[in-house]
Amino acid sequence: MYYISTRGHADRKRFCEILLEGLAPDGGLYMPVAYPQVDDATLSRWRTVYHTQGYATLAFEILSLYIDDIPADDLRALCAKTYTAEVFGTGEIVPLRHLQDCVWIEALSNGPTLAFKDMAMQLLGNLFEYELGRRGEELNILGATSGDTGSAAEHAMRGKKGVRVFMTSPHGRMSPFQQAQMFSLQDANIYNIAIKGVFDDCQDIVKAVSNDLAFKRKYKIGTVNSINWARLLAQVVYYFAGYIQATEQNSQKVSFSVPSGNFGNVCAGHVARMMGLPIDKLVVATNENDVLDEFFRTGVYRVRGTADTHETSSPSMDISKASNFERFVFDLLGRDGARVKALFGEGLSQTGQFDLRADPVFAQAAATYGFVSGKSTHANRLDTIRSTYELHGMVIDTHTADGLKVALEHLRAGVPMVVLETALPIKFASTVVEALGREPERPAQFEGIEDLPKRVLVMDADVSAIKALIERECATVV
Ligand SMILES: *Cc1c(COP(=O)(O)O)cnc(C)c1O
Repeated sequence: MYYISTRGHADRKRFCEILLEGLAPDGGLYMPVAYPQVDDATLSRWRTVYHTQGYATLAFEILSLYIDDIPADDLRALCAKTYTAEVFGTGEIVPLRHLQDCVWIEALSNGPTLAFKDMAMQLLGNLFEYELGRRGEELNILGATSGDTGSAAEHAMRGKKGVRVFMTSPHGRMSPFQQAQMFSLQDANIYNIAIKGVFDDCQDIVKAVSNDLAFKRKYKIGTVNSINWARLLAQVVYYFAGYIQATEQNSQKVSFSVPSGNFGNVCAGHVARMMGLPIDKLVVATNENDVLDEFFRTGVYRVRGTADTHETSSPSMDISKASNFERFVFDLLGRDGARVKALFGEGLSQTGQFDLRADPVFAQAAATYGFVSGKSTHANRLDTIRSTYELHGMVIDTHTADGLKVALEHLRAGVPMVVLETALPIKFASTVVEALGREPERPAQFEGIEDLPKRVLVMDADVSAIKALIERECATVV
């Protein structure tokens, strides 16, 4: 399998080459040259694989269609090591919970940090360690986080040979629970850096360091952000596992509703559908930051400014632009890299928007690709959390509530609707308390984590100080 850029660059790369890279050289995102097709016989075989051999083996089957530069036995072992009941809480890894007639919740948030990002990040940690070991190289991951991504990355990379994580976060701005999840890690290769500033200051530091190409090369600076193809690929697996659990035969269709921010999660659903998984609708659910809902309703993609980006009670979906969206537009435009480049390159940086309203391909976005959308507000989240508890005795988190609210607007008779649960309620406890008047349940292993000793450096928003820290720590062996 070869990978190409969405912006038409001539390079063709293999999986392990793009694994440790960010963007393609022309600023595009990597995509497989073609989607492997899953026929009826294969889907039936995978049904049996999931039920008899489990999620890890299903993951191996799917990943091996896209990864042909890791020996099959090694890839199988990496999947087996990643998707265990110890790490993800159950043997099914992603069990479906029945909510009401035709509506299911797919549990994706029982990994170490209680959000769906663990599903991909845990695999990424093992892939990185494997590939770096094979090359005899090191990698220094530099990131900026306001919550879920940073903690998922740290828990995936802790103790991994050859990898250090330097994670910046805005000092004092994450919830006590999120701070504890990151700062309680005592691993020598994990560096928590609380920056005296806001999230944008953290992102600016990461950009400044990455733009110093000599420094970047010398100190092997990398990232783990959501545009990484390996993360997206790992997420494709749970669409298959959700489908298999919701159906008995391949003639049935299933819809998925996905709480969306950067379009990474739902883009994995698009890939599964393009491979031939019988998905009816892909429901894109946004919060008040409705860049994506606006596009699917109107055909206009309009990036928001800082002043236009709202802080909401589903904060992991508070985005100003959707960084994986370019992947879908590449398919929508018939994989015309030059056009994607024109839209997302200069076009977007000059005017902050593009308009596909008049383009016949836009009219087909729903029919051909199954996308529909909707949005949910703070009041909707409170209502949905409350009614889900009152009607079904189930407590859901704020992001999952956005997904469920929009899912219920797109139900079709006889078609199971699977809502992806993207976090557990304890991570966003204050809104759950606002809705229900009581604290959500806390898994036993998280009892009292706020009181554990913290390992964190508090630093000014000063690029040269961060560089000096990286230089100093690179003198030690990991
Ligand atoms: C990251 C995240 C999302 C958004 O996922 P995307 O892949 O960016 O669309 C939704 N909910 C939670 C809890 C998250 O952490």
